[in-house]
Amino acid sequence: MISKLKKIKSLPKRMVIHGEPIVGGFAVGRVFYYQDILTREIEKKKLTKKQVEEELERLQRAIDKVHRDLEKLKSKVANEIDTEHAEIFGAHQLILKDEELLKDIKNGLKNKRLNVEQIVQEVFGKWEKKIKGQDISAIPERANDVIDVGRRLLRALVGSVNQHSVLDRSKDSVIFAHRLLPSDTASFNIKNVKAIVTVEGTQNSHSAILAKALDIPFVSKINVPIDSLSRGARVIVDGDKGLIIVNPTQAELESYPLLIQKRLSKRLKVLKRIENINLKTNGELIKVSANVSSLSDIKMAIDCGADDIGLYRTEPLYMNSQNFPAEENLYLQLVAALNCVGDQEVNLRLLDIGGDKTLPFLDIVEIKDAALGLNGIRLLLKYPSLLEIQLRVFLRLSAKFNVKVSVPMVTLPKDMIEVRRYFSQEKDKLRKEKIPFNEGLFLGAMIETPAALMSIDELLEHSDFLSIGTNDLVQYIMAAGREKIEVSEYYKAGNLLVVNALKDVIRKTKEAGKECSICGELAGNLKFTKSFLDIGLRNFSVHSSMIPYIKYKIIRLTDNRAELLSVKDK
Ligand code: PEP
Ligand code: MG
Repeated sequence: MISKLKKIKSLPKRMVIHGEPIVGGFAVGRVFYYQDILTREIEKKKLTKKQVEEELERLQRAIDKVHRDLEKLKSKVANEIDTEHAEIFGAHQLILKDEELLKDIKNGLKNKRLNVEQIVQEVFGKWEKKIKGQDISAIPERANDVIDVGRRLLRALVGSVNQHSVLDRSKDSVIFAHRLLPSDTASFNIKNVKAIVTVEGTQNSHSAILAKALDIPFVSKINVPIDSLSRGARVIVDGDKGLIIVNPTQAELESYPLLIQKRLSKRLKVLKRIENINLKTNGELIKVSANVSSLSDIKMAIDCGADDIGLYRTEPLYMNSQNFPAEENLYLQLVAALNCVGDQEVNLRLLDIGGDKTLPFLDIVEIKDAALGLNGIRLLLKYPSLLEIQLRVFLRLSAKFNVKVSVPMVTLPKDMIEVRRYFSQEKDKLRKEKIPFNEGLFLGAMIETPAALMSIDELLEHSDFLSIGTNDLVQYIMAAGREKIEVSEYYKAGNLLVVNALKDVIRKTKEAGKECSICGELAGNLKFTKSFLDIGLRNFSVHSSMIPYIKYKIIRLTDNRAELLSVKDK
């Protein structure tokens, strides 16, 4: 019989709970109890003969609904993890179609004349026991799959609120549950779920496999009753050692984030090895680079296994200054940063002021509220001395470092033509002064506006590469400000539109023999990795913290999978 989770007195003191490590890693979060629908008492109702027919119809509707839900879950997992894991839910669809199981439910209904929820609970319980009673090692998992399907069916019948939506709202949750079934784990919002703690659970459980794929630390078989902690209590979960520290000390709270970072670096070493093999699909190399804006960002990018620096936002060089930095000041600051990079390529972006970014010392009336005004390259072309200094600095840097230059907020091909004119002018000056630079330094347009998207052929003629800034592109396509919460729904809806709109750009850039990268936040969104690969994207540039995840995802989605497994097995 299943007991209800009870609220038990809180344990404010520090305490350590021991369990079995299932998935390694560390997390800091707060206790969140996850209650299973099977733990509820279901009301028993006696049926008339006529009602039995109605219950049979209700059963069929619930089966159809569960089938559709499983189909959705399958594609969610295929997108976020891979098709192999998604097949767990294909297997669940088969269980749902199992003729013997359905016969049991239908016969139970007709013979016992009880509401279908009762019968479903009973039949699935019987099947669970039956499967567990068989002496085959893989069986417990199969029993869990059967329970999972039974629970879904029950939920569809009861019409209960989907409990996963609760999880969606709880940030920093450490899930405490008696047991977790695959669909629980797969439905979690990975941003919110920091760790999992259960009573039942094995290394080979589908939940554990999914947690591993989602990189969620997991401890099972804990040595205290699962419901003995106060809700919301702060906990540190150590998935490597299989322990949970409840109400940790300040010193522990400070030391665990360091361990989290250290572990990330360790995992990255594995990724580094793979990186040496090179990520590829259909023979084409795939790069996952970093977006940076400071020296410390660069260090993090290197730690996180960035292939290149796909976007160097130079605004902080200006924002942290009392006035326009002089050429030498700019040059020296960038040399200090680029010295840490090695021979990786760095995409230096020209100053992108306006829109969401302004400068404290810049008193140009036109740039206030400049989302539709004087921003990015427009501002630089209006105040050319700003542009000239940057181009000169970037050209000087090109003598020593592997850099290229991107132009923000391009709308008209004329923008690129004019920047090129200043570019040539600065090259001429440097030649005359006998200051070395790379004659072949690349200059590329950022594609951040619908106008640029529509003029791609012409822009390509004036660009050595393209860099797509989806943060702005989405806002301009959707007419929904990137910082405006009131229209965030519209902004979000624009993501998919933009991904689809980029297919042509990527194809055309490739046909022109040039490189195209995406450096907006969308490139770091795991939900879109598959779509991006499908539309031909081979250059991702993302926040460093996302690099391992994106690489992991790419490995799972492409022909690098076998290589990952062999590296991990060593
Ligand atoms: C973008 O718009 O996607 C982009 C990368 O530039 P920023 O976010 O700096 O405007
Ligand atoms: Mg932008």
